[in-house]
Amino acid sequence: MTPGVKPLIAGNWKMHGTLAEAAALAQAVRDGADGLPAELLVCPTFLHVAGVAAVLTGSPVAVGAQDCHAAAKGAHTGDVAAPMLRDAGATHVILGHSERRTDHGETDAAVRAKAVAAAAAGLIPVVCVGETEAERRAGQAEAVVERQLAESLPDAFAGVIAYEPVWAIGTGRTPTEADIAAIHGVIRARLAARFGAAGATTRILYGGSMKPGNAKAILALPNVDGGLVGGASLVAADFLAIAAAA
Ligand code: PEP
Repeated sequence: MTPGVKPLIAGNWKMHGTLAEAAALAQAVRDGADGLPAELLVCPTFLHVAGVAAVLTGSPVAVGAQDCHAAAKGAHTGDVAAPMLRDAGATHVILGHSERRTDHGETDAAVRAKAVAAAAAGLIPVVCVGETEAERRAGQAEAVVERQLAESLPDAFAGVIAYEPVWAIGTGRTPTEADIAAIHGVIRARLAARFGAAGATTRILYGGSMKPGNAKAILALPNVDGGLVGGASLVAADFLAIAAAA
């Protein structure tokens, strides 16, 4: 944890569930949200943002989306603009998730443009970075993350970073605690160097196979200010247990 920074536990629901299932999951998270040591954020698919936001109105649980377009509006068939997400009740948006980078060829420059659009619409960007397994094996993990930070973040960045080693996402594998702490330390140093005092308190989340069983140890590491949780966020009890461990 970073002293003085309240942790954030964010659930990335990816492309799962019906609207009724998303609403029920949101209600279960809402029911267990009081008194936790962390702020909570859930990120359903675009189609469910408004419905989940309606369930969570007046609760401490925030709603985010999983991507946005870099333009505020226009002829972009199939895309969703940041102002639309804000209008639907979202306060956050995940950007540059490795599945977007891989499935949709998103570059650091594209992520940066989306982060600018998100901020302009009043959304808090949650920008994901992280190395592949081959990059880690080649000793390039820190360099890759530093490059992604340098090129994905706009000059005026007020958001959240999520460090997600690609090889740990959905695999049940996690880096060692020393490796997580090392990368989070590098990210903190880069943020502080570039953004000054604001960078010293920017939340840096860890993501990649975080579960109730490993959350406490990971969340206790320096500069780990919460988690971005995929699979375990689809089970309310597990998501809430991770937040309780913060
Ligand atoms: C993710 O996709 O952001 C993620 C961290 O997934 P999981 O927790 O399932 O590894």
